[in-house]
Amino acid sequence: MRSSYYNIYAKLDDYAGYVVYNGVTGGVLRIDNNTHDLLINGNIERLKPLAKQQLYNKQIIISDQNSQIDILKDRYDSIKKATDTAIFIVSPTTHCNLDCPYCYEHELIQTKHRMTASTSKRVFRFICNVLKKDSKKFAVLKFYGGEPLLEPDICRQLAKDVARWCKKAGIRMVTWLQTNGTLITKEFASNIIPCLEVCEVTIDGCKERHNGIRTNDRSELTYDHIINGIHLLSKHSASIIIRINAHGGNEMQAALSDLEKHGVMKLPNIAFYDGQVSSGFIKGNFAASCPRHINTSEQLDAIKEIRNVIGSSSWLDKYQQYPIFRPNCGICGFSKPGTYCIDPLGDLYSCIFQQGCKPQNIGKILDDGTTEMYANYDEIIARSPFEHEQCIKCPIISQCWGGCFVKAHYQKGSFSASCCNQMPDSIPHMLLASVEEKLNEIVKV
Ligand code: SF4
Ligand code: SF4
Repeated sequence: MRSSYYNIYAKLDDYAGYVVYNGVTGGVLRIDNNTHDLLINGNIERLKPLAKQQLYNKQIIISDQNSQIDILKDRYDSIKKATDTAIFIVSPTTHCNLDCPYCYEHELIQTKHRMTASTSKRVFRFICNVLKKDSKKFAVLKFYGGEPLLEPDICRQLAKDVARWCKKAGIRMVTWLQTNGTLITKEFASNIIPCLEVCEVTIDGCKERHNGIRTNDRSELTYDHIINGIHLLSKHSASIIIRINAHGGNEMQAALSDLEKHGVMKLPNIAFYDGQVSSGFIKGNFAASCPRHINTSEQLDAIKEIRNVIGSSSWLDKYQQYPIFRPNCGICGFSKPGTYCIDPLGDLYSCIFQQGCKPQNIGKILDDGTTEMYANYDEIIARSPFEHEQCIKCPIISQCWGGCFVKAHYQKGSFSASCCNQMPDSIPHMLLASVEEKLNEIVKV
């Protein structure tokens, strides 16, 4: 009998012991400090019989013959191959009309590349080819940027063409617009929104804070433009998702009050989620907007505060909460076949946060909609944490799966390399944050 390699221990207050979570079974128990020490030091035979049984039931301790690694390998393969859906993230332009101080695309937006109508046709042919060749049942077409509404005709035409083609082919397609929300006019709304299913806009806290951060290229304050845009959007059937950036409970409180004051809360089809922006950028960490970018206990404390405020607000039914710690955490979608990030020139990139960065270029779309894919792409798709000895016995592999391949490439010159980043430090904090409120429900050994 031995301890599983895949136990994650999160320390509670000094005398309260630990929460232990097994990454293979998802089993969670509370253990005292002594039991923790016995598990860590491999002194299984000294565990009390009842404790031993409870730990065994959750596979926190396992028989010597039990190789949990095979379960993890199967899980990894099935997540990676779960490709019923193809995702196309298209940037019709790298230009943007705002200059947010935290933007990770500063260099990119200077290029001001715009997609031409002929490139858009290439992209359309590419999307059809992929969906046909890989027999996909679902497709997501997401407009990203820069600010995609600087190229409304490209968005509208591509959305229409792909929707029409998917309908004929029996493929369910969702079109998603990620916009800063400042360019939505009545005309835009009635021309483009009917082609879309979801519009996502971002607000940086309350009106005062937002206006202090986000001005447009004419130095105008943008909050009222965005609120006006949200009202225009709400006249159509697309779902509106507001990302509210806040760094603490007070900021979230103020943001919600202002949205309420502006009548946003009463609109149909509104949902929101909480976001944070941070100073950690891709070259030093994950991309700031990468969903995996929770890595400090300060961020986790802020998220807790924010979620308490939301929990006690009347907005709860509109809130889309992203779990801090996911029991069966997925691998980064950009390492799966079937996810493509397309820039205005028709070039393909490894990750949405890497557009325009030549070493991260994974291929290009040719005139007939076929592609020339580079070795980078094969390396990313073939990447596996099970190639790395340190990952194979890593307690957090079921959460990390070898880490961010983009950062691995920056650090080690290879997409296949593993990249621990701050995951080993942050995962126990994330586990703790996710179980804190339910501690009483977790069985104590
Ligand atoms: S490659 Fe994946 S994990 Fe890394 S920054 Fe991009 S989205 Fe995040
Ligand atoms: S990259 Fe590092 S933290 Fe992630 S699974 Fe591998 S060894 Fe563990």
